[in-house]
Amino acid sequence: MKLSRRQFITTGTLISAGITLAPLASFSTTTTNVNQLSSNNKKMKLTFQPYNLELRHTFTIANYSRTTTPVMLTTIEYEGYTGYGEASMPPYLGESQDSAAKFLAQVDLSKFTNPFELEDILDYVDNIASGNPAAKASVDIALHDLVGKMLNKPWYDIWGFTKSKTPDTSFTIGIDTPEVVKQKVKEASPYKILKVKMGRDNDKELVEVIRSITDVPLCVDVNQGWKDKNFALEMINWLNERNTLFVEQPMPKEQTADIAWLTEKSPLPIIGDESVQRLPDVIKAHGIYSGINIKLMKSTGMREAHKMLLLAKSLGMKVMIGCMTETSCAVSAAAQLSPMVDYADLDGNLLISNDIYDGVKVIDGKVTLTDFPGIGIKKIN
Ligand code: MG
Repeated sequence: MKLSRRQFITTGTLISAGITLAPLASFSTTTTNVNQLSSNNKKMKLTFQPYNLELRHTFTIANYSRTTTPVMLTTIEYEGYTGYGEASMPPYLGESQDSAAKFLAQVDLSKFTNPFELEDILDYVDNIASGNPAAKASVDIALHDLVGKMLNKPWYDIWGFTKSKTPDTSFTIGIDTPEVVKQKVKEASPYKILKVKMGRDNDKELVEVIRSITDVPLCVDVNQGWKDKNFALEMINWLNERNTLFVEQPMPKEQTADIAWLTEKSPLPIIGDESVQRLPDVIKAHGIYSGINIKLMKSTGMREAHKMLLLAKSLGMKVMIGCMTETSCAVSAAAQLSPMVDYADLDGNLLISNDIYDGVKVIDGKVTLTDFPGIGIKKIN
């Protein structure tokens, strides 16, 4: 490669600086100094850009609907490798493209020369500001992708998980009129588990409509919608007779005594979602819930999600891995943990029409990992 005049002058300056700094050193020491100088120039470069996901169907929870999800796409470049990351920020969770851009502008990775120092690098990122879990996850995911690519291995392999042990994923049937729900259930026939959102007046009617079409197991997410514990237990018993696997966040997260009571009486596992964000929340959830729902956009990424998974399993709790509406980038990153979970809710990339990555697939209802290194994706657009 031909050096430009400017590069030549810079290189020459570096070499002479090495010699000047160690005038009495042997040639080999001088060479080492030059190498150290050049290795100090190996810097990670973080870039980010906003992107808007277009949803295939209007997304409705509680009294709220939307047709797009704002995300921030990140890259970390280092020594010819590129790691991809993503922050997904549904508006009701409080982050935005503006808040993510403000946070990411403060992340200076140039102080680290070794991307394998994940613990130190991600501790630094976490301590820049409180909150911002999705923005932090976008750095964490890109760094994991980069490191996995440098090792030429996917993360399930690095973590020692068995690729074939991934579970079936649930697929969410949005709240709608009985005719539309019937149509959606028919279209969801490739999926072996359906998820329904409850906590409205017509909860039983929605389940009856689904059961008129299919007997596949249901997961139920109440999103804190039931306020009375006796009513909640009655509903859970009713669902238990209709082939339900578990109930997610049945009551408001503040009602811990009621939820503990419900978990003790319930024939179905009770999973905490809104009440479990990060690692210390796993300890708090122990004895209150049967299990936890881990999402990268809550946990600040893969590093802490992995710790939450191992902690919850060691406490004998069930683990579910979930996601937001996301491209195949963040969903594939979450899927790296899926061989170890009891339940997966990884349909976020199936709900959008403008994905820009190829990654994890659902084949015969099952989460199916790729062999691509890192988080298991390739850019397609
Ligand atoms: Mg949930």
